[in-house]
Amino acid sequence: MFSKHVTSELSAYCQEELSEARTRAVAEHVMQCVQCRSQLEEIKFGIRLAEQLPQVAAPEAMWNEIQSLVDQQRSASSLLRPRQVFLRPQFVAIAACLLLAILVGASWIWFSRNNAEEPHGPSWSVATLNGKPTIGSATIAKEGKLGVGQWLETDHNSSAEISVASIGQVQVDPNTRIRLVQTQPTEHRLELARGKLSARIWAPPRLFFVDTPSAVAADLGCAYTLEVDDNGGSLLHVTSGWVALQLKDRESMVPAGAACQTRPGVGPGTPYFEDASAEFRDALKELDFGEDSSRKSAGLNVLLRQARRKDTLTLWHLLTRVNLDERRRIYEKMASLAPPPNGVTREGILKLDPAMLDKWKEDMELDWMYSTIPKQLAEAYWKVRNGVTRRISKLDGK
Ligand SMILES: [Zn+2]
Repeated sequence: MFSKHVTSELSAYCQEELSEARTRAVAEHVMQCVQCRSQLEEIKFGIRLAEQLPQVAAPEAMWNEIQSLVDQQRSASSLLRPRQVFLRPQFVAIAACLLLAILVGASWIWFSRNNAEEPHGPSWSVATLNGKPTIGSATIAKEGKLGVGQWLETDHNSSAEISVASIGQVQVDPNTRIRLVQTQPTEHRLELARGKLSARIWAPPRLFFVDTPSAVAADLGCAYTLEVDDNGGSLLHVTSGWVALQLKDRESMVPAGAACQTRPGVGPGTPYFEDASAEFRDALKELDFGEDSSRKSAGLNVLLRQARRKDTLTLWHLLTRVNLDERRRIYEKMASLAPPPNGVTREGILKLDPAMLDKWKEDMELDWMYSTIPKQLAEAYWKVRNGVTRRISKLDGK
């Protein structure tokens, strides 16, 4: 990518210790860099583990042992600053697991004694926009608080706005049922059971999640609407930035200007640009959720015939979701629209080499991200970008 990797700053970033300018720079880099994004995931996982530990004192003897281990580690790596030693993701994760093992017995006793009443956790402010929304069984007048585990409901003529900690806003449309699942510095999570929400989030990527019956929407710094129908299917429209839709190991990355459907039992479908033709969108729906194989293959024909350069978004996602024969055809079409960069081969893509898939995606992401700006501007941008790329290649000696 254009900026250097930000691995060394990720710990500080997670703990909100960077300056505003660095925070923004790191967030922007992470949005575009697979490598740093996966590092960030590891660090967040470690922090989350550490945070979930109940605060119970460890037995004295065990504690002394940990202390001496830590001292050893410190002197062994005296060249590093102590903070860095502690915050390396592997170390945080190992330490957390160690403590978890020690404390699990003690906490079991603690929980079994205290299970009568859940502690009152943090809450989010809710403002009524129209009508009379409810939280739990109570109607809220002008403003209310949504606690962890509580449901917010709107009927056909009420709507509300939720302040998501300090990171954004969620507007809740009529006929919607939504629950606050969790709010922590490393994760904020809502559950949308039915209805529609519009979210505007200005947090670092993957801090705000919305669970739906058929996929999880992970915010990557963006604005979007998410709608859940009575069958548990959902429809995501992204208006700025990126959203990732996930179910188990199936993930769809949806940029601004694009949409994606999800279905129970299938998970996220394939993202598509909303200005694609109706025929294109219908064909994709058939391919994603249809059951008739001849209609599916007719669908693929339509996609390959109609795909524009930016529709490589759709084609790239399909690569991993079709058989080898179809993958060959998709590859040819993609290569004619957006030739693969150096280091990405036809063979590798047909074998679904993860590094090559990522590299090609990274190369096309600019097409996808800038699809919402006027054509002339995009062309000017491409001229500059290609010039820069050529110059960088020369410097690299490629
Ligand atoms: Zn990076």
